Amino acid sequence: MSATPATPLAHDADALLQRLGVPRAAYTGGDLPVRSPITGETLGAVPQSTPAQVAAAIGRAQAAFLEWRNLPAPRRGELVRLLAQELRAARDELGGLVTLEAGKIPSEGQGEVQEMIDICDFAVGLSRQLYGLTIATERPGHRMMETWHPLGVCGVITAFNFPVAVWSWNAALALVCGNAVVWKPSEKTPLTALATLAIARRALERFGAAPAGLLELIVGQRATGQALVDDARVALLSATGSTAMGRAVGPRLAARFARGILELGGNNAAIVAPTADLDLALRGIAFAAMGTAGQRCTTLRRLFVHDSVYQTLVPRLIGVYGRVQVGDPRSPGTLVGPLIDRMAFDGMQQALAQSRALGATVHGGNRVEGIAGDAAYYVRPALVELARHEGPALHETFAPILYVLRYRSLDEAIALNNAVGAGLSSSIFTLDMREAEQFLSAAGSDCGIANVNIGPSGAEIGGAFGGEKETGGGREAGADSWRAYMRRATNTINYSTALPLAQGVTFDI
Ligand code: NAD
Repeated sequence: MSATPATPLAHDADALLQRLGVPRAAYTGGDLPVRSPITGETLGAVPQSTPAQVAAAIGRAQAAFLEWRNLPAPRRGELVRLLAQELRAARDELGGLVTLEAGKIPSEGQGEVQEMIDICDFAVGLSRQLYGLTIATERPGHRMMETWHPLGVCGVITAFNFPVAVWSWNAALALVCGNAVVWKPSEKTPLTALATLAIARRALERFGAAPAGLLELIVGQRATGQALVDDARVALLSATGSTAMGRAVGPRLAARFARGILELGGNNAAIVAPTADLDLALRGIAFAAMGTAGQRCTTLRRLFVHDSVYQTLVPRLIGVYGRVQVGDPRSPGTLVGPLIDRMAFDGMQQALAQSRALGATVHGGNRVEGIAGDAAYYVRPALVELARHEGPALHETFAPILYVLRYRSLDEAIALNNAVGAGLSSSIFTLDMREAEQFLSAAGSDCGIANVNIGPSGAEIGGAFGGEKETGGGREAGADSWRAYMRRATNTINYSTALPLAQGVTFDI
């Protein structure tokens, strides 16, 4: 590709990248084409990192870590404070680039950058709260305590659907904890990653005292991610993506005893109980199921509606599905933008065909033509009425499909909520506190996130984010999230002249 932008969207992306300070050579003339899901046009061509470049980036990060770990944590927090400032200044441009590259509507693109700012603010506070305990010891004249130390190089692999926020969830915490970060973004969204690094570079320059190599970016596909997974210098690997990716990554990390944070797929449900505020439930369901065109890990995919309210709620919901504005995310009023690519469209159509074959009633789900030509994939979100909990409803299809099923008792609905491999997010709409509490109890939802009277989607910094079972078990952004990025040491100090042994053991020589 030439240095002159070839298409109108490439022109817009180029203007944003220039304003964000990304050199043109970083996104032109490379071997990885980047397409916008809005029209299917090519936005740029990014050079992929060679294996030697990946190894060198990890090496630079390792060297940076050895220096960075010696700076006091509140001082490290100062860098993250500056990063938040730079992100605030760049919010419109970076959010706009998220829209172009990932197809999100502008409020979601900007929202993603806001989330980056929020995690930075959160991490700055934590930089003065990396507490260890002092522990009562059974030995007189002794003190026992725990200390927390920086871990090393943190590898971060991210998915296309949150192309920048997930990096910041990891990087902000990893930095205050004294680590260096090597990021492998999704091959579908490298431009926003380049822009994020350009923003971070400004914070590093203003900070002055950060070693080179503290924040590294490597660009490539699965094999590039695998190089990060397998490198013994990477102490922690945080990987966000599909459960299939986690199945490949998890055992490789385990084989070299590396730490992992796995944030994988979800198959999230909501229960609408007899007492639910149905107006509120309708809005909550609509956002959670159709927002981001169904391409959030927390997207609502299964809805269990009590028999007594099914006929009141579901026809209204079908009406909303028929009316919601699908279109170019930049057009005013659009709530549902494009699917990321053809593979996502094919996956959706396949799941709908399987549902039909099982006798389900499918509303919507068709391709919406006339928005941007053949190379873009816009769909009307699908609502699928099921008689049984089976088939594609049991697995995540990363597209806007909502499976709807009747239930009769709360026990039955909770069992259905829990009857899938994934365990990310869940919610109940009810005004009955007994039902709400049962849903949140040990015998309730088995997910990492369980909500009442809001949908399963739309997490907030401060709460631990992540899920159980096939979602991978990782947690990010919670109050103690920093511990994942540090290593813990237990220290026993003897300030007496005796040497009492623990458990009363005697060893007289
Ligand atoms: P994906 O699994 O295709 O790719 C995610 C990332 O993993 C990419 O950077 C990819 O290059 C890399 N990758 C893939 N296979 C790999 C391997 N074997 N070794 C190393 N790296 C590998 O996912 P996607 O399509 O980009 O994103 C959608 C998926 O991500 C959905 O399943 C969604 O639920 C999930 N997701 C989860 C969370 C969460 O926090 N739980 C957040 C966002 C997305």
